[in-house]
Amino acid sequence: MIPFAGNPLDRASEKRIDANWIESKRRDPSSLILPMWRLEPFLLGSEKSSAQLELGLLKPGIADSLAGSNAPCIFLGLDGERAVFALDVSDAGDPMNAGPLAGLGHFRDARVAASNVSIKDAAIIGQAKALIDWHQRHGFCPRCGEPTKLMDAGYRRLCGKCNAEHFPRVDPVVIMLATHGEACLVGRGKLFPPEMFSALAGFIEPGETVEEAVRRELMEEASVKVGEVTYYSTQPWPFPSSLMIGCFAKAESRDVKADETELAEVRWIERSVARELVEGKAVDGVRVPPPIAIAYHLIRTWALGEQ
Ligand SMILES: [Zn+2]
Repeated sequence: MIPFAGNPLDRASEKRIDANWIESKRRDPSSLILPMWRLEPFLLGSEKSSAQLELGLLKPGIADSLAGSNAPCIFLGLDGERAVFALDVSDAGDPMNAGPLAGLGHFRDARVAASNVSIKDAAIIGQAKALIDWHQRHGFCPRCGEPTKLMDAGYRRLCGKCNAEHFPRVDPVVIMLATHGEACLVGRGKLFPPEMFSALAGFIEPGETVEEAVRRELMEEASVKVGEVTYYSTQPWPFPSSLMIGCFAKAESRDVKADETELAEVRWIERSVARELVEGKAVDGVRVPPPIAIAYHLIRTWALGEQ
């Protein structure tokens, strides 16, 4: 399973418009609330623990004093009969300083947290992070500039002036591993850590298919012409709200030239080397991303001949 996929909650989307039901679940003692502080999820236990961490799902009421009056509280879904919400407590200056959460756990960067919890909890973090992030950036109507308000338990915003409706965005990104015979193409972005190489990627543009975006990006970033493009898998990527669409692309040759405005370097990697890289080794100054990234799964699948 690719991290951020496999969300275990029943989104029960038909319940979102029932404000009375949402409000009663919001107060129901069996419900669970995940506090999010400045886009960081709350985790139980010590920050120093090396064991797998658990999501800080709390009973209703515990974290309420940390949230401002208009703080987003989002219905994530049902776990059996229990409703699960995410509550934005970003208004709290320091939520761990002698507040109601002191001693219960800690807030952790969402990407780091997702690597240290179960695959199911990582998916819940992704859903909560992407939605709260969207609310934080959409307080004003892009049509008329007036304030918008949260509706439908967090899945819509409505402009109070012009009545325009706004829905949470998902931005599609193609991420593709170009291959040629027994080699695959990886690139190092200008802002990547030293030695880090990954599959090339880019946002899909309006009016473009997935295959067209794959071909355009490989030509723009590496001057690589590709023939067949095949779909691999997708990954929700909540930084801030992308959907990564993983593909393989058959290159017509190994002629390659990095676009220096975006990439520091591109390299063809032999399959035998790729097998070592996905075991976490560095080979000739090349490393690949960890398993939280779909790029890792693209490279591993190809390296093991499983695609
Ligand atoms: Zn408006």
